[in-house]
Amino acid sequence: QSQELSQVQIDYHAALQALVEDGTRMVCTGRMHTDRICHFESLCYSTEAEEFVYFHSNSSVMLPNLGSRRFQPALLDLSSVEDHNTQYFNFVELPATALKFMPKPVFVPDVALIANRFNPDNLMHVFHDDLLPIYYTMQQFSDLDLEARLFFMEGWSEGVHFDLYKLLSNKQPLLREQLKTLGRLLCFTKSYVGLSKITTWYQYGFVQPQGPKANILVSGNEIRQFTKFMMEKLNVSLEESSSEEYIVVFSRTINRLILNEAELILALAQEFQMKTITVSLEEHSFSDIVRLLSNASMLVSMHGAQLVMSLFLPRGATVVELFPYAINPEHYTPYKTLATLPGMDLQYIAWQNTDREDTVTYPDRPWDQGGIAHLDKAEQERIIKSTEVPRHLCCRNPEWLFRAYQDTKVNIPSLIHVIRQTVKSKPGPKKQKWSGSIYPGKVRDAKCQASVQGTSEAKLAVSWQIPWNLKYLKVREVKYEVWIQEQGENTYMPYILSHQNHTFSENIKPFTIYLVWIRCIFNKNLLGPFADVLLCST
Ligand code: UDP
Repeated sequence: QSQELSQVQIDYHAALQALVEDGTRMVCTGRMHTDRICHFESLCYSTEAEEFVYFHSNSSVMLPNLGSRRFQPALLDLSSVEDHNTQYFNFVELPATALKFMPKPVFVPDVALIANRFNPDNLMHVFHDDLLPIYYTMQQFSDLDLEARLFFMEGWSEGVHFDLYKLLSNKQPLLREQLKTLGRLLCFTKSYVGLSKITTWYQYGFVQPQGPKANILVSGNEIRQFTKFMMEKLNVSLEESSSEEYIVVFSRTINRLILNEAELILALAQEFQMKTITVSLEEHSFSDIVRLLSNASMLVSMHGAQLVMSLFLPRGATVVELFPYAINPEHYTPYKTLATLPGMDLQYIAWQNTDREDTVTYPDRPWDQGGIAHLDKAEQERIIKSTEVPRHLCCRNPEWLFRAYQDTKVNIPSLIHVIRQTVKSKPGPKKQKWSGSIYPGKVRDAKCQASVQGTSEAKLAVSWQIPWNLKYLKVREVKYEVWIQEQGENTYMPYILSHQNHTFSENIKPFTIYLVWIRCIFNKNLLGPFADVLLCST
């Protein structure tokens, strides 16, 4: 197959001469291998050695120049999954003069983004580890535009969701295997290596049990900018909210089944007086599912990767995640974390089957589908008796897999009860409103004036002006927080005030130096920065 790299014409001799004379140039961002993305000119790749090659010359650049720390453990992570030892990137070095003895380089004219997909067969991984990070890495570097080309180096074949990756750029993404067909030595004219981790919200439990990332940096706004882009590429337009309201049950058809799905659908339709429809990845096209979800009032689904598609739900919608027997919803929260990101504006509800009678287990299946027949008898018995899977590391814990691949007969009254605790009236999308929050600036022109009354009493009159940005905003409630700290003391007296001045007399001593800290607060929880500390002597 021809991989039409030559769409952009390049002057081969000029390119070769530049490579020989200038060698490779690399400049990276990030202080550690886990937060590094590198920009290269003339990075090469040997398809025979399956290694990237850096050519030294008089003009080559290598920043950071880590010496042998480049191997401890790597220059950078090729996937967005942090510090995973199968996802490291490095290159081997050669002098540019070695090119004389090497295969003739084939130049890649497109600006390239070189990365690993982490698990392209699983939809949660596709969105969380690949699509969102690729999208925002491309936003970070302006020459990674729609004409850039993606190179996936993890070594997998296209996978079932390859069409989604194709939406991110106008050029066909290339896989590691395909590079062989292009030549023995490929040289990327301009490339970026690595992915931004700024949008990821979950860690899968490689070093500690899975859970939300410690320092989440993404909010619903950025997620929705991404879904808007995807929907435009999928030709799914946001329908008007005038159309009928409905509930979507996202079902799995191969495993982790809902055994009484028909009954569930009827019950939901009756309880919420809404049309209720079923979709599955097996029976619906991706665009159809997106179209349906983007206007749904509620999404109900078994725990599983298909739930990542709640990122296409409209603001105000409800996500109901069903957990099989013995699986504690608090221990598996990729979809809860997504739904509850600030600004996602989704209501999240977890339901768990707590009744052994309602679960169907598959001890005799292969281990990767939850079978436990390969374990010794005592261990099998322990697992079968256990009422909760203890926290565990990824990815092959047999007790977890055994419970995760159970089928469930959903106890309808119990489920409706749990949903009703959160959804009081009709569930449904909110009018699309901008829900970002704006923080106050510093208060301005803070002043204090002290007065002493006798030997034991003093007063401190403090005043300040509103933050500069407040005069352009409509804010429901503006308050000021003032801390009064005696110099040299560790404690302080906090006050919440409504006005721009206040005279403090409680616990104020004469002939003492006080530090006064002031900040503005919008709507109770939007805390602004403290202004420069005021020094006030009584
Ligand atoms: N999957 C599906 N229907 C099924 C079982 C799985 O569509 O009946 C999809 C699932 O959404 C995911 C992939 O197949 O994208 C792998 O599923 P697995 O059970 O391994 O992962 P999980 O959903 O637990 O993350």
